Amino acid sequence: MNPVARLRAWRRARILAHHPLADATWQATVADLPVLDGLRPAALERLRELATLFVHAKTFSGAHGLDVDDAKRMAIAAQACLPLLELGMDWLDGWRSVILYPDTFVVDLEEADEDGVVHRGRDERIGESWERGPLILSWADAAPGAEPYGEGSNVVIHEIAHKLDQRDGYTNGCPPLHPGMDGAAWRRDFQAAFDALCAEVDAGRTTWIDPYAAEAPEEFFAVLSEHFFTAPDAVVELVPAVYAQLRAFYRQDPLARLAGR
Ligand SMILES: [Zn+2]
Repeated sequence: MNPVARLRAWRRARILAHHPLADATWQATVADLPVLDGLRPAALERLRELATLFVHAKTFSGAHGLDVDDAKRMAIAAQACLPLLELGMDWLDGWRSVILYPDTFVVDLEEADEDGVVHRGRDERIGESWERGPLILSWADAAPGAEPYGEGSNVVIHEIAHKLDQRDGYTNGCPPLHPGMDGAAWRRDFQAAFDALCAEVDAGRTTWIDPYAAEAPEEFFAVLSEHFFTAPDAVVELVPAVYAQLRAFYRQDPLARLAGR
């Protein structure tokens, strides 16, 4: 282990020793989140460590008077860290703030069209990820049991996928890939699945994949990441090449966990 990695490991061990998470809080968190079902005890223990480090590293605040207690912090942390289970916390460094709204929040938008005319509008959101900035969530939609867009949806995983995508400075649906992964194959597999979804949506067909994924390649990656962790059987069936790429990137096989649920 190099000196920097050793120092980091020592700091983490210290945080875990000095800020232990109460067993009851952790057990209640796990019981409330079916997305964690089927994780083996060793993986759950690793998730517990990551979630503890997440709560320590990030500053949580409640907007509009929302009281952010340990149970809320841990519920967000456990969901946020699931995609990191085999990647590690370093993937989430460079930002600190988690802001929880009680419910959907409204953002003011300003956009210039091709003639340079600026249009202003308001948009209702359940989550946002700012590059090097805060992670913003609607608690009503991020709380255990919430499936804001139906089966297979998870707003925390969606926003964390954006955080991972942003790490190379480009929000484009392609996070920094691991050594040995083929970027051209990634782009080919995602583009083909994205184009097929856009065609279905344009034709007015109902799709199992959340049609919001057709908005842009980065939304496709974020939405498919939600589906990958919460409904892996559907992803394998509908877009097997995308499932294989996500399995290689996240280094997890949620489909294998389904058997253990
Ligand atoms: Zn998004």
